[in-house]
Amino acid sequence: MTIPATSAKFTNYDYFKTFAANRLYRPYFYPAQQICKRLFHAHNALYPGRNRHSLGCSLLCLQNIAIDCDIIMPMDYMDEAIKEAYEGIKSGHGGPFGCVIVKDGKIVGRGHNSVLLKNDPTCHGEMEAIRNACKNLGTHNLYGCELYTTAEPCPMCLGGILWANIRKVFYGCKVSDTDKINFRDDEFYKCFEGKSNLYSAQECKREECLRLFEDYVKTGAKRY
Ligand SMILES: [Zn+2]
Repeated sequence: MTIPATSAKFTNYDYFKTFAANRLYRPYFYPAQQICKRLFHAHNALYPGRNRHSLGCSLLCLQNIAIDCDIIMPMDYMDEAIKEAYEGIKSGHGGPFGCVIVKDGKIVGRGHNSVLLKNDPTCHGEMEAIRNACKNLGTHNLYGCELYTTAEPCPMCLGGILWANIRKVFYGCKVSDTDKINFRDDEFYKCFEGKSNLYSAQECKREECLRLFEDYVKTGAKRY
C-alpha cells in the first residue's frame, strides 16, 4: 500500500500515544510500538539535534520518514475502519463501530456494526470484518492478518479474533470510552472478572456430552 500525501487526517498523533500508553493489551500493541521505535530511531538519525518529544509536532517529517523506511502507518488502515463506521452510522445499521482486516499490506476484509440491520447481536464490526475476510480469503484461519477497529473489542469480538488466529489488533476508543456512550462492553468484561453477575451456567448431562466428544475424536477430524 502506498502512503497517501499528507492530509488533515494524518495529524492525529493520538493513535501513537494510545498504542504506546496502553498496557492492557500489551501483546497487541507490540507491532505499533515497533513502528514507533523505528520511527524514533529514523528521526534521530536524520535529526540528531532535535528533541524526540518534538515528534508529535512534526508529522510531515514523520510521514516522510515512514515513506523512506517503507513503513505502512497504522493510521491509514484506521482511517478505513473509521470510514466503515461512518457508513454504518449513515445507513442506520447499528453502533459507531467499523473494522478492517489487513494482510500483507492489503485490506482483505471490512465491516461495520450491522446489529440493527440484520437483527443479529453478533454482527459487530470486528465480526463482520472477520466473516468478510474469511470469505474473501477462502479460509477460517486469519493468521498473519492485522485487525484495525474503531473501538477496543468486546469479549465476543475478542473471542472471534482469537478463534481466527489474528495476533495483531489496533483499536481507537477504549472500553471506557464505549461505556460512556452507553454500550455494555465494560459490564461484560466485569462479568468475566467476577465483578458482575449477568448470567448463570450449570453443568448438565456431562456424561452424554463426553460420549459425544469421544465419538468426535474417533472420527479423526481436523482440529482448528
Ligand atoms: Zn464486539
